[in-house]
Amino acid sequence: MPIHEKSLIRPEDLKTHEQLVVEGVDVSGHWSTFIQTRVIADYNEALEEEVAALPGAEHIHRCWQCGSCTNACTVNALNPDFNPRFWIYLVRLGMQSELLRDKDIIWQCVSCNKCTYACPRDVNPEGVMKALSHWLELKGHTPKSPSMIFDEEFSEQVIRRGRIEEGRLIQRFFKRTGQTLNQEWLVEMVRRLLRHLPLALLARLGLARLLAPRSRGWAAARAAIQDYVGAQQARQRRALGLGERLETGAADAADTTQH
Ligand code: SF4
Ligand code: SF4
Repeated sequence: MPIHEKSLIRPEDLKTHEQLVVEGVDVSGHWSTFIQTRVIADYNEALEEEVAALPGAEHIHRCWQCGSCTNACTVNALNPDFNPRFWIYLVRLGMQSELLRDKDIIWQCVSCNKCTYACPRDVNPEGVMKALSHWLELKGHTPKSPSMIFDEEFSEQVIRRGRIEEGRLIQRFFKRTGQTLNQEWLVEMVRRLLRHLPLALLARLGLARLLAPRSRGWAAARAAIQDYVGAQQARQRRALGLGERLETGAADAADTTQH
């Protein structure tokens, strides 16, 4: 799987002699540009297996490096350093340290799925980007992203009550991401809702916010979902070489204190 893109060579690995004459031929400057030899000794041979254990990346092994995903990518058009094809290449080779150099931009995937439709091998590159972000967070290479925190809060509510209560969801999300509730756009949104939504619906929403109702007969479904989610998370953590301890306690604790 060779790399053909010159843009992927790190500037610090490109060397040029200002003045160089070889066997009487002046090859100064551009003509003497070469790529510095590197020895990579810190491969993570389990990297592909670890990433493939996370939802969305199950088919990463199918990639044949055609580049259609990067070519179609919305974010790549704005930032050429955002390169799904290249990251899949690094994962498959186990080049973890090289991958970590881009850890602060991998989360920028906007989930438009243009790559998924362009991929001739059904790799699901969008899923791989999500799995990679997840892998970076689980391994402690990056802090938990706001979108991950939102997902956790959303799932918590569904599992706990069998339904979503938007006000509670936003409040919990804002609290965990250190945001205040008096942001201009939010105040304006609430003002418009109050102005345009029917009174009966507003009253129902307000009541739901206070009482946090559950779906009727949800207990059995909740137990089954909790079992399944617990088993999946334990499997993923094992695949990543992490302990079995789960990280959903924060939302659990907060939720129970609100009753
Ligand atoms: S889903 Fe993500 S990786 Fe795929 S095209 Fe959109 S931004 Fe790019
Ligand atoms: S489009 Fe699919 S097969 Fe081609 S490089 Fe991207 S993930 Fe790999």
